[in-house]
Amino acid sequence: MSQKQVNTGDDPTKAVLSESGLNSKHLCDYVVNVATGCRHGCKFCYVPSTPAVRTRPDMLKEQAGVNDAQREWGNYVLYRDNLPERLSNHLDRKQKWKQTRRGCGVVGISFSTDCYMDGRAGAITRDAVQTLTENEKYTRVLSRNPILALQDHDVFQEAGEYVTIGSSIPCLHSESVAAIEPRAPSPEHRLRGLIEFDDLGVQTYVSMSPTYPTLDKDDLRMQLKQIAACNPAVVFHEPINPRGANFEMTVDAAREAGQEKLAQELSKLQNRERWAEYAMKHLRWVQELGEELDLPVHLWPDKNLRNYVSPDEAKWIEKWRHRQSPEPFGERELPSTKPPKLERHSVTAD
Ligand code: SF4
Repeated sequence: MSQKQVNTGDDPTKAVLSESGLNSKHLCDYVVNVATGCRHGCKFCYVPSTPAVRTRPDMLKEQAGVNDAQREWGNYVLYRDNLPERLSNHLDRKQKWKQTRRGCGVVGISFSTDCYMDGRAGAITRDAVQTLTENEKYTRVLSRNPILALQDHDVFQEAGEYVTIGSSIPCLHSESVAAIEPRAPSPEHRLRGLIEFDDLGVQTYVSMSPTYPTLDKDDLRMQLKQIAACNPAVVFHEPINPRGANFEMTVDAAREAGQEKLAQELSKLQNRERWAEYAMKHLRWVQELGEELDLPVHLWPDKNLRNYVSPDEAKWIEKWRHRQSPEPFGERELPSTKPPKLERHSVTAD
């Protein structure tokens, strides 16, 4: 993991608990973010292009000397230290709770930063998880650093069925991951943290997001076999989608790190037909491997894929987009039908 100077400050934002569109991915109906900015600085990260960052240049400049929020992503963090206290007051006053079929009223921490990126963020997260779960709110924690989260295992264990912790494990090849997620813990480290949580009786899940185009079916099989060790309630999967200004930065970062093959394969995805071919292949492989290994897989196909595939494939994508996730977390109504099948003749060759 490379080290770099990170400018820190305070985030004066008033937002505590925000409604979220992540219910479309069966993740949550609300999000709590413990900071603006993220130390990990993943090159493909979409967060710096979202309104929460893009529309606040004055705050970022004043608090952390930021001139270009996108280019400097990874070099600034503004913490929300008093968030747990405000969250507690907010929950006391809140009368209505949104609960969609896909989001199940779950609160996600944090999807715009890594809530265990360091000790200061972890301290905020610990109190926020405790506050939410004591109020019987289902809480989904996502971190690339679950080993650090283990320091709060008591809070997670006490929360019981109200909490689940997951991590993004897009690829198990450490050098490739380090090239485009330069300051995040290695995938082995993430998996080890989740295995320890499972050993402690805490529900886990994995997000294989986004799987790298250099991976073939055998790589994905190996990856899923290793992921099975943390006994995940669900494995979410999505291919990478090359959009936004940061995709070029992702390709450059891979090249600069000496990962030429990864850089080349990523670069090819800027052609939308090539992207659709890779994305469909990975989605289908992960579904097949989930069945082969008896793992609860849930696919996140991008709706734009429908513009580049056959009518059968478009129908398959549409079915996945409406299928309920198999994870029981949040008292979810589990899918009553088998996952949609895609006939082999309608897809591109392996
Ligand atoms: S850990 Fe998540 S929020 Fe942080 S840079 Fe990486 S993708 Fe973005």
